[in-house]
Amino acid sequence: AKALGGDRLHWFDPAMDELAAESARLGSDLEQALRRGEMFLLYQPIVELPSHRPAGVEALLRWRHPDRGLVSPDVFIPIAERSGLILELGRWVLESACRQAALWQQRYGTDAPAKVSINVSARQLAEPGFVAEVEDILRRTGVDRSRLLLEITETAVLDPGPALAAVRELRDRKLRIALDDFGTGQSSLSLLLHCPVDVLKVDKSFVSGTAATSDAGAVIVENLIGFTTGLHLEAVAEGVETAEQAERLSAAGYRLAQGYLFSRPVPAEIIEAQLTGVLAK
Ligand code: C2E
Ligand code: CA
Ligand code: CA
Ligand code: CA
Repeated sequence: AKALGGDRLHWFDPAMDELAAESARLGSDLEQALRRGEMFLLYQPIVELPSHRPAGVEALLRWRHPDRGLVSPDVFIPIAERSGLILELGRWVLESACRQAALWQQRYGTDAPAKVSINVSARQLAEPGFVAEVEDILRRTGVDRSRLLLEITETAVLDPGPALAAVRELRDRKLRIALDDFGTGQSSLSLLLHCPVDVLKVDKSFVSGTAATSDAGAVIVENLIGFTTGLHLEAVAEGVETAEQAERLSAAGYRLAQGYLFSRPVPAEIIEAQLTGVLAK
């Protein structure tokens, strides 16, 4: 912590200092993580309602730290974003997920319900050359762009700038874009006026979190669907944990959902076993 003098010294807090040191240690470990093979992807199914048949998967990054075990992306992604390491990590995620998607495409053909959603951070989107990098990865992996969905967050495209320009260019190039954590930001609705997307992922706080336990949460989720239909957007309800939630969402008109009720994030082999199970039926 810094000695600022005067009253401002009062914010000096050993707990905060410890937190900063901890995050600095993690940050330097993170720099080695890719090279040491500590990063891997899990995939969580996105299913159709009411059938629960798989419609796609979301790739979710995991870090197995040699001493600490699994570190949550909610911890290491912000650290990687601050240091800029997210650019390297994000490229690795994009390439690995596309390679996996290409493999599923080869094995199971175009009927296989294996659309792959990939999280793209604001820093990546704003980086000059991001669109060219995506095109390069598509070419090298051979994955069909119609099988991908790039998930972006509202903060990335709040203001006009390179990230917003990248989103527009990606859509012009027939790549589909999802707005993640929809409803949690400051200006989710007005954002749609200047940032065209294909899919809204309705945040889990409205579905299973605190808001859902209130009447307001339920009203919002149920009314958002009419709004997305009117705008020709697809909606995915996130964080579905109970059969009752799934039934209510389905009755409200949701056709796609994701959550622990259907599956936790799992390794690619498990997804594949589920796919072959479905295809065998
Ligand atoms: P997200 O993109 O909103 O991903 C959904 C998160 O919700 C995942 O957490 C998932 O495991 C969790 N989840 C799914 N179903 C349920 C449910 O029914 N209940 C509850 N309580 N949670 C559920 P995860 O994997 O820990 O990831 C956390 C966040 O880290 C992600 O939120 C995303 O913002 C970020 N992240 C993960 N992987 C990547 C990546 O490859 N790149 C970037 N830029 N960010 C990533
Ligand atoms: Ca996401
Ligand atoms: Ca989300
Ligand atoms: Ca989230």
